[in-house]
Amino acid sequence: MADYTISVIHGDGIGPEVCAEGVKALTALGEVAGHRFAFTDYLAGGAALDASGVPLPADTITGVKDSHALLFGAIGGPKWEKVAHHLKPEAGLLQLRKELGTFANLRPAAVHDELLDASTLKPEVLKGTDIMVVRELTGGIYFGLPRGIEGEGPARRGFNTEVYSVMEIERIGKVAFDIARLRRKKVCSVDKANVLESSQLWRDVMIGLHKQYPDVELSHMYVDNCAMQLVRNPRQFDVIVTGNIFGDILSDEASMLTGSIGMLASASVGGPVGFFEPIHGSAPDIAGQAKANPLATIATVGLLLRYGLKLTAEAELVERALRSVLAKGLRTPDIAKAGEKVVTTREMGDAVVAAIRAGK
Ligand code: NAD
Repeated sequence: MADYTISVIHGDGIGPEVCAEGVKALTALGEVAGHRFAFTDYLAGGAALDASGVPLPADTITGVKDSHALLFGAIGGPKWEKVAHHLKPEAGLLQLRKELGTFANLRPAAVHDELLDASTLKPEVLKGTDIMVVRELTGGIYFGLPRGIEGEGPARRGFNTEVYSVMEIERIGKVAFDIARLRRKKVCSVDKANVLESSQLWRDVMIGLHKQYPDVELSHMYVDNCAMQLVRNPRQFDVIVTGNIFGDILSDEASMLTGSIGMLASASVGGPVGFFEPIHGSAPDIAGQAKANPLATIATVGLLLRYGLKLTAEAELVERALRSVLAKGLRTPDIAKAGEKVVTTREMGDAVVAAIRAGK
């Protein structure tokens, strides 16, 4: 009998290629650490549409809900661009996120010394950067009512509503403070409290919640300043917690500090089953060519262990293994310098597995 059941959605494009390496890493980790993982594959996205006529089949939803965590590759591609909106692969992904009730999106942005020069920022500004952006995912202006477009002529107007309740702010705040306790114990809450009432409430609730976390330092920053500070001095941040729209923008900004999209992982948690995925898409331009960087998916496995299964030492082993293959000089094309020797997706995955087995 397995200790943990893991749902795997390989998806489309490079999804199956990178997911295979993630599963390999998790299997090796299980053997080394003495955990039995049982993997069950489910369909979603274009592959599901081709097989069953819908981008999110019912058995995928029930199967995923019945597991301990979901490892997701990527979905979408040109083949399905012209299908009806509700049948698009991306519609299946949004529905799955909703089904799982994951209200907290975690986006780590840590700079690897070996890849310092892969970023557009100066190495001396970036060195040592290690940020976790905690974004509220199911509230705020993307979901607030009323919304719409109404009227005629020059008076025609579009409107949305930024709204947060105390309950929504408290639960995302708790996620951020709890994560900070596992890191450098600093939370920066980002808002626009000088202009928006919803942000005023956000700030008040964060200050109230902080009383339960006296060991964690809390600071506040306006979102415009935060966008600037991320580029000016990213090392000042540990955990950033913010609402949906600010988090959408800041998490992309923060993650791009670190270089390639092929390195970046994310986790969506808060519901009964966590959703773990690399931040990249299905990369149709390189699919099937063994060029995809599997390290984003392997970093995702680290998040799955740490935040999904609460296996901290095991997560650290995967993270160490990832760093050690970079230190050895292994590079897929996306992170290689001009003229540098490159490895295939599988060779990179094999190297991580070897490092996990060696306990490195
Ligand atoms: P993308 O992330 O797929 O690709 C952007 C660029 O980054 C491409 O040049 C690609 O080759 C490169 N890239 C991405 N992942 C890489 C990796 N692991 N290794 C090396 N290079 C990598 O974004 P896109 O091209 O805008 O979208 C392609 C498809 O993916 C679309 O159908 C889009 O809707 C979908 N998409 C899905 C998700 C998801 O499944 N969560 C997220 C974003 C986009």
